[in-house]
Amino acid sequence: MRQKLVAGNWKMHGSQRLVTDLLNKLLNQQPLSAKVLVFPPYPYLSQATKLLAGSFIGVGAQDCSQAEEGAYTSEVSAAMLADLGVSHVLLGHSERRQYHAETDTQVLEKAKRALAANLIPVVCVGETLAEREAGATAEVVLRQLTTLLDDLSLDELKKVVVAYEPVWAIGTGLTATPEQAQEVHALLRAAVAKVDKDLAASMLFLYGGSMKPDNAASLLEMPDIDGGLIGGASLDADQFLAIRKAAE
Ligand code: PEP
Repeated sequence: MRQKLVAGNWKMHGSQRLVTDLLNKLLNQQPLSAKVLVFPPYPYLSQATKLLAGSFIGVGAQDCSQAEEGAYTSEVSAAMLADLGVSHVLLGHSERRQYHAETDTQVLEKAKRALAANLIPVVCVGETLAEREAGATAEVVLRQLTTLLDDLSLDELKKVVVAYEPVWAIGTGLTATPEQAQEVHALLRAAVAKVDKDLAASMLFLYGGSMKPDNAASLLEMPDIDGGLIGGASLDADQFLAIRKAAE
């Protein structure tokens, strides 16, 4: 039985005030069975890890550098994130792939750095609308996932979380139907099963793309959807908590 995971990607939103208000509202809740994670922007990570230390809520960063350290102005290393008490790192989000031309190989290199620093990589895969309409969804998501499966060791892969985020559904209000999302999740899990059956049974596959309180339950009840990566709705404590409830 896989533990459900509900993760909030704040993207480039927030302030010190929002961190305090939102996280205190989340902390006021009872821990439930689903694991909760928040991904604030870099400047608020330290504040968040201090506030959430020892609680049922974990903190992730939205990216990390593919370099270990050195002359890479503006970059943030995986080791620095671990030093702050961050436990997870989002990699290959479609906004990184789209606006920063991040490639599958760079995502792999970042995942290696994250794992070496004891961070859990949450690797995003997903097709654009044009790719879906061209019937290329399976090819695209399998290519993105296979880059990791071919290179990481079994022990490393055991720590990886995958988020299926159809690009056309992110921040658009369009959501994949539960059946569309399940189909892709099952495909991804089957690809992992070719590497190792136990790994496929334990790996978490999150769905992301306009997940809201009114569509969360139907997505989260699908057999291969183990949780949600939530953007917009994670900035509103009531909505985020309603999604977390739907994950129970
Ligand atoms: C995301 O940022 O990863 C995301 C899924 O955003 P939204 O929920 O707003 O579509």
